[in-house]
Amino acid sequence: MLSPEGNFAERSSGAVTDDKLRKAVRKTVDRLRDLRRADELPDPKTLERRAKAQAVREHSVAELPQLLAQFTENCERRGGHVHRATDAHEACSIALSILRSHGAQRVVKSKSMVTEEIGLNEALEHAGLEVTETDLGEWIIQLAGEKPSHIILPAIHKTRHDVQALFEAESGMTLSSDTARLCAHARVRLREKFLQADAGVSGVNFAVAATGSIALFTNEGNGRLVTTLPRVHIAFLGMERIVLDLDSLAAMAEVLPRSATGQKLTSYFSIITGPRRADEVDGPDHLHVIVVDNGRSAVWKDPEFRDVLRCIRCAACLNVCPVYAQVGGHSYGGTYPGPIGAVLTPLLRPEERSANELAEASTLCAACTEACPVGIPLHEMLVRLRAREQKEHPRRLERLALRVAFRLLRSPRAAVIPRVLRLAASGTGTALLLKKLVPPLERWQRARSLPPAPARTFRALWQELEMEEHHAH
Ligand code: SF4
Repeated sequence: MLSPEGNFAERSSGAVTDDKLRKAVRKTVDRLRDLRRADELPDPKTLERRAKAQAVREHSVAELPQLLAQFTENCERRGGHVHRATDAHEACSIALSILRSHGAQRVVKSKSMVTEEIGLNEALEHAGLEVTETDLGEWIIQLAGEKPSHIILPAIHKTRHDVQALFEAESGMTLSSDTARLCAHARVRLREKFLQADAGVSGVNFAVAATGSIALFTNEGNGRLVTTLPRVHIAFLGMERIVLDLDSLAAMAEVLPRSATGQKLTSYFSIITGPRRADEVDGPDHLHVIVVDNGRSAVWKDPEFRDVLRCIRCAACLNVCPVYAQVGGHSYGGTYPGPIGAVLTPLLRPEERSANELAEASTLCAACTEACPVGIPLHEMLVRLRAREQKEHPRRLERLALRVAFRLLRSPRAAVIPRVLRLAASGTGTALLLKKLVPPLERWQRARSLPPAPARTFRALWQELEMEEHHAH
């Protein structure tokens, strides 16, 4: 669901004036982008790895119904239970009935964007259950009562002083703002939650059809505790996050951590096949996998956008996006920010008109497409979404204005324009003048600020340069 608070233009105009937010976001995305490039650029095998990953994901998307059926059969053969949820409400209801059937009251969660998408925490808390996020960034966000602002670094917009204040409020203790000490504090607090939990909820990075396994990539170790300590494990699988076999999974393991954080492999890589067996020392007694559709089937049926389902949520496109770096994740209003969010949100939520405007949140520089390890043509999809929106809800006035401008600029009469602009600059400034003279432009200009025209035009500067050159000779 999209944030009910304003539209992209309103949310982002607040963000671009928040220097603290922009500094925090910029610092981290620049670091992640540099780490990825340092790993990928000098390595001659990068293109080979990416081509393999792209082929794996192309196959996954092409054969999605068959792979899901194969996964279901194999997972259930190993003792797991697979449920299919059409939408967010159904996915939350299934989870709730599983938890109730086991008498679960306390739930620990590892990081999962699909559970953010379906609003699982709110649904479980509304039903009276205690839910604790155990990924450090997610816990910070939960304590702040906010939503993640980045796919892999949910608390990217928080400084260590923000985190210190949140931890102090939660524990009633006085804490240092030293990052290592804050992490140690979180470890102690969360360890209590793991030991008390009745059930663990995780996402799934990839399901493996041939073995019925689910794979998790994590860096903090909390995923292992969530999936092995409690008696019940519920895993949420975005319908498209499936691969054929373990070789395909290996291909994904080669690109996901590299694209996300510049790591060759994540610190913890778990493959879970069914619940704990009699001869195993740890693991849950019950494993449930909830396969979430929530709009994905409609995207799969759309040949123009089906390829977006290849996405592996590595966030590389966010880390290179000049718009994301300026406005941060909350400006996008949905679960998925950045270029992938600008494409995915309108496709998953076609009934929410305000989602369509996200396609405008791009300079179309194509840095996202270049960064994407599975070859999704994100910038082309953004253009297609804009065209679709224009077709369904034409902005006639804007189109007319652009047509007039196009004709005017091509004609010899365009010579008059510098004079008009000079006049505007000498008075109240172009932006203000345009707003005053043409009221419909006021709304258009809310998200597009025109700089005041310079006092001397390019033509005048050019003539001066020519004169100088002439005198020099
Ligand atoms: S669109 Fe590509 S770069 Fe962006 S999150 Fe998905 S896989 Fe990563």
